[in-house]
Amino acid sequence: MAETYAGIAWTGEGYEVEVLDGAGRRVVEPSGWSGAQTAELIAWLRDFDGGRAPAVVLDSTNGLLDGPMTAAGLEVYRADPWLLPPRPGFGSVPAARLAERARTAPGELARVTAEGGTLTGRAEEYFAGVKRGEPVVAELTAAGRCFAHGRRDAPKVALTFDDGPDPVFTRQVLDILERYGARATFFCVGHHVAALPDLVRRTAAAGHELGNHSWSHPYLPDLTPEQLREQLDRTAEAVAKVTGEDAPTRFRPPYGALSPEVLAALEGYPTTLTMWDVDTRDWARPGAERIAATVLESAEPGSVVLMHEGAGDRAQTVEALPAIVEGLLARGLELVTVGELAAPPGTDGPPPSAR
Ligand SMILES: [Zn+2]
Repeated sequence: MAETYAGIAWTGEGYEVEVLDGAGRRVVEPSGWSGAQTAELIAWLRDFDGGRAPAVVLDSTNGLLDGPMTAAGLEVYRADPWLLPPRPGFGSVPAARLAERARTAPGELARVTAEGGTLTGRAEEYFAGVKRGEPVVAELTAAGRCFAHGRRDAPKVALTFDDGPDPVFTRQVLDILERYGARATFFCVGHHVAALPDLVRRTAAAGHELGNHSWSHPYLPDLTPEQLREQLDRTAEAVAKVTGEDAPTRFRPPYGALSPEVLAALEGYPTTLTMWDVDTRDWARPGAERIAATVLESAEPGSVVLMHEGAGDRAQTVEALPAIVEGLLARGLELVTVGELAAPPGTDGPPPSAR
């Protein structure tokens, strides 16, 4: 492990960073960064102390930094809840506590890898939770409160982009979609919405649908029901404030982590859970050709395609997008929002105010 430890906390305003040395002494003054400054924060960490980057420590309620940081070669660790003091109602464990935990008990932290993703080391628990949640998800699907794909007899497909907006990739995605007259759905995280409101406005103004993807991209089973609903409420409010329109009515759970406990916490919450039936796994950066091939091999009428525009290097997704759009259009499939895909037969989708 590195000789210094950078705890990174998230708050309603952005990130707070505290760097401690092996003796627990503060190495630099604590710093604050906006949700739009991930690239700057990474550059600062890489150049730290003449290139001796600190080990980065996050808690499991922050799923926005490990992807770009591991891709940039930083050493990233996750401190799980049983190692940490209780969190505030909104926000992660304070940065100093994260750095301190890494300093005093480094062996207990989970090293996060690019291949394993944010939940490295907790995959079994994740899959078991999703499996236990399946009966409830089936009930919700039958009741119209969970949606993974539309009718198979109507030639429409919904492309979806998660984890944005992003200072680099959102514009590129929007430009490509505009070129083809295609519409899509963007599941935004509140942390990025607050930092990049103009991009959210541009997305909405272009006729795309906005969805809720939580505030900080947490592993939902680690939240209390109150913390979970706070993540959704704050994100919905942020989107509505920025666009001046109604708050998003769709929620896509980070990692699709719908355990029975998460589903119970969401009971009665006014939202439609929105999943997917085509997973490009673009976050693992398998190559633009692979991403395009996955969509063109798997998508069928009614499909909801999962892709990412934020919280990582999405250059491959952007590179794959023209081939994806052209391939789907060539098969006679119309590219619509999830709201339109989910609209009952005989209607043209929700009125603009509901988009
Ligand atoms: Zn996500």
